[in-house]
Amino acid sequence: MALVITNGEYYVVPNKKGGINKTNDITEAQVFSNVNTAAEKLKKHKGYLKEYYVWDTEGETMQPKRIRIKRKHFSQEVRKLLYQQAEGKCALCGKKITFDEMELDHIIPISMGGADEVENLQVCCMPDNRYKANILPTDFFNRISDIFLYQMDKKYKDDIRWKYCRGMIMELL
Ligand SMILES: [Zn+2]
Repeated sequence: MALVITNGEYYVVPNKKGGINKTNDITEAQVFSNVNTAAEKLKKHKGYLKEYYVWDTEGETMQPKRIRIKRKHFSQEVRKLLYQQAEGKCALCGKKITFDEMELDHIIPISMGGADEVENLQVCCMPDNRYKANILPTDFFNRISDIFLYQMDKKYKDDIRWKYCRGMIMELL
């Protein structure tokens, strides 16, 4: 395996200061033989290496392939602490959940540059975690609002109380 980190145009090359630079000459590119080492480097410099991925230059298809960065496994203690802080409630729907039902959601998804750290985690129920998937909190809010309005419109479209409420809600959104 000959792995390089690239965005399809530039390649990562080590510099003398122990950091990294970018080059468009593939012969200068740093070659990794281990996926995890390359993924770690990518993660360490993920600000500088946005849009970069690990590419196996000896891969059969010669197509860049994205490699999943291994996620941290948070300890039971960390999970318990987060559960306590959340008072056992899902951060998205507010429903009480048991410790066993709890899932941890990355507030800013890892796929969008969010950190795999405790500060970026929130307690979530399983259906909401599946539903939120890889979207930002603001996009989630907008989507839920759209769904709410659409469903209420469908159900109460001729109800004057809903028309009144809708007007007030629209002022907030
Ligand atoms: Zn929930």
